[in-house]
This record gives sequence, C-alpha cells and structure tokens, in this order.
Amino acid sequence: MSLLVQKFGGTSVGGVERITAVANNIKKHKDDGHQLVVVVSAMSGETNRLLGLAGDISDNIPMTDQDVLLSTGEQVTIALLSMALKQIGIDADPYCGWQIPITTDSTHAKARILDIKTDQIQTALESNKVVIVAGFQGICQETNRITTLGRGGSDTTAVALAAALKADECQIFTDVDGVYTTDPRVVSNAKRLDKITFEEMLEMASLGSKVLQIRSVEFAGKYQVPLRVLSSFSPGEGTLICVDDDKEQSVEAPLVSGIAFVKDEAKISLLGVPDKPGVAATVLGIISDANIEVDMIVQNISADGESNDFTFTVHRNDMARAVNLLTEGLSDLSIREIKSDDKIAKVSLVGVGMRSHAGIASTMFKTLADLSINIQLITTSEIKISVLVDEKYMELAVRGLHDAFELDQ
Ligand code: ASP
Ligand code: MG
Repeated sequence: MSLLVQKFGGTSVGGVERITAVANNIKKHKDDGHQLVVVVSAMSGETNRLLGLAGDISDNIPMTDQDVLLSTGEQVTIALLSMALKQIGIDADPYCGWQIPITTDSTHAKARILDIKTDQIQTALESNKVVIVAGFQGICQETNRITTLGRGGSDTTAVALAAALKADECQIFTDVDGVYTTDPRVVSNAKRLDKITFEEMLEMASLGSKVLQIRSVEFAGKYQVPLRVLSSFSPGEGTLICVDDDKEQSVEAPLVSGIAFVKDEAKISLLGVPDKPGVAATVLGIISDANIEVDMIVQNISADGESNDFTFTVHRNDMARAVNLLTEGLSDLSIREIKSDDKIAKVSLVGVGMRSHAGIASTMFKTLADLSINIQLITTSEIKISVLVDEKYMELAVRGLHDAFELDQ
C-alpha cells in the first residue's frame, strides 16, 4: 500500500460528469489499496469568472478580498467531489486550506506555504477515508486571513502536501498525458518522456510551465517528492519527474532530453563600451533598478584593449523601457551605439547527459548551419545550450534539432 497525493486540474473537474469520472478514477486507486489525498482546482474557467466579477466592481481590488473570493472556486470542487465519491460508496472528507491548516506568509495572491499540519489528514486516512483538499489556498499565520498561492497554485498545494505527508508519489492529473521532448504543436513527432529530472524540467520551464506551475517543480526538487504528470482522460504512465541519480541508475541518461524555446525575449546590444572595471555593473544596475529581469548576458573580449560589445536579453515588453533608461543613464560613457531587436527567439537543448558527453554543442551548431540559420548569441550551462536566432527560423531550428538528436526515437 502506498500513500498517493493526486491533483486534478480545472479541466479534469470542469463539469459534474467530469467530477464523477474523477471519483471513479479515485475509486480504482482506492480499490488497489492505496491511501489517497486528493487536491482539486476550481472548475475550469471559474477563477477567471470570479476575477471578472471583481473587475466589474473596481480595477483596484484589495488582494486580501480577492483571495477570499478566489478561494471559493476550489471550495465548490471539494464539496462536489466529496458528494460524487460518497455516491459510489467511498467515504471522503473535504477540507479548505484553512481547516488543515495550510499556513502561509502574508503575500496575498502569491503566498508561500510555511507549514502544513498533517494530524487531521492522518486520522482521516487511518479511518479509510479519502481526504480532499482545496488547492491554491491557505491561511496567513499572522493575520488569520485566507491567502492564495498564485495562478496554477494547486500544483504547489499538492506537492507541499506530498512533502509534508512523505507520500510515495505526487500525481498531477491534467489534460496532457505527460511532458514532451518539445511542443507537439511545433514538432508533430515529439515524444512523451517517461522520465525527466527536476533540473531538466526547470530548464524546460518555457514548455513545462504549460503543464505544471514551475514553483511546484522547485518545491518537489527541494523536498525530493517524486512527481508524475499524467492525463485524467486517457490511461498511461505519464512522465515521472525525479532526482538525477534515480534516472542514471535505471536508464542510460540520453544526451539531450528536450528542446525548449521562447519567443518573448528581446536583445539589447551596447557597441563600443569602454573596457574598464565597473561598466557591466553600471549597465545592469540601471536595468535591475528598474526591476527588469535579464536572461542571457554576453560580453566579448576586447579586441583593441579599449572597448567591448555587451549584449543581453530582456522580456520583449521591457525592451523599449530598457533602451530608454540606458540611453539616458549611460550618456556619460561615450558608448558608440545601442541596438535592440525583438524579432528573436531563444532555442535551448536541455539534458543532464550533456555533463558527461562532449560534442553536443558542435552537433547543434552544425545542424543550424546546415539549415542556414544564423546564431546571434550562445550561452551554456552544465545541462543546457541556448542560442538566439531570428524568430522566423525558430520552428525550423526546433524541428531540425529534434531530428538531429533523434528525439523521436
Ligand atoms: N484555480 C487556480 C487557477 O486557475 C489555481 C489552479 O487551478 O491551480 O489558477
Ligand atoms: Mg493548472
């Protein structure tokens, strides 16, 4: 017998028929002898509907009130699921976050979980009940007010419960059947991965965030909670997200696990920046003081001993503001030119296998060269190689690389 935390997202509980289907799914696992704690989201569209109501009153709603409102979405689902389970002979206890309690800090709309009391849950499990917990919500330890964990926060509730209960696995049931080598809408023969490491999943965030709230992956990695993504609509093993050694012990780690890409960045280049201490700090200081996040950063070696070129990327929406701030803030530095480009895309190869294999970068660059795709910028980490390319070649690059590394095999 194992203890499983299962989370069902909005689409999986999008109507009464679907809630009944979820109840039947739970019954199957219960009949197999597992102990179950079930976390649910609000029915699909409900959180947005509630936000719309609030927006009709004011566009400046206090977050404390908004959290009271949004937490009702999940409360509806726990009640309906509990009824559906009892209807098929399974005893269940539905709980809101505050009843457990799941205590959080006071950052309304984006609260962090501080503690979960497990006594009540344990007692209910021991009396053979299914425990149902409302996702996405908690209670602020200091103020006693209801809080929410940020959009997609039910994933984090599930992982945090699994960690607190030392569950054998945290299973996220959703509308996709796992994590893919890349976005199947771009590469039709993208393959579902049986396993991926936490690190890889975090690097694949641009793809993965559509599947899981990224915070939940960080949380699961930190507490080493085995996390599985699987479909609530079709049977299958899904994708297990787990620690590195686990993967290396059971299967030979593939060189490349997946290809991530994003189109929402922009590139800013400062040409002819004086080559002296403090310049990079000044440039990036201006950007960080404006709360603009920087992703890739590249500075070349000074050829003439006097000046450098310095390039970095920011979110597209921040590009114009960043360029204005730099133009003003760096006017004393005699920079030759500030260029910017938002017609770019970042394509990344991700894989823990890169640690121990040489030659991946050259295969990547050769593949892009054969497709006549110019690489504008390169950055690497231990398990990732990212390149910037013209956005119109993004899909071509992703498909070419997917083939070159035989990710469909
Ligand atoms: N209902 C919340 C949302 O729509 C939380 C969740 O579904 O995970 O973001
Ligand atoms: Mg979700």
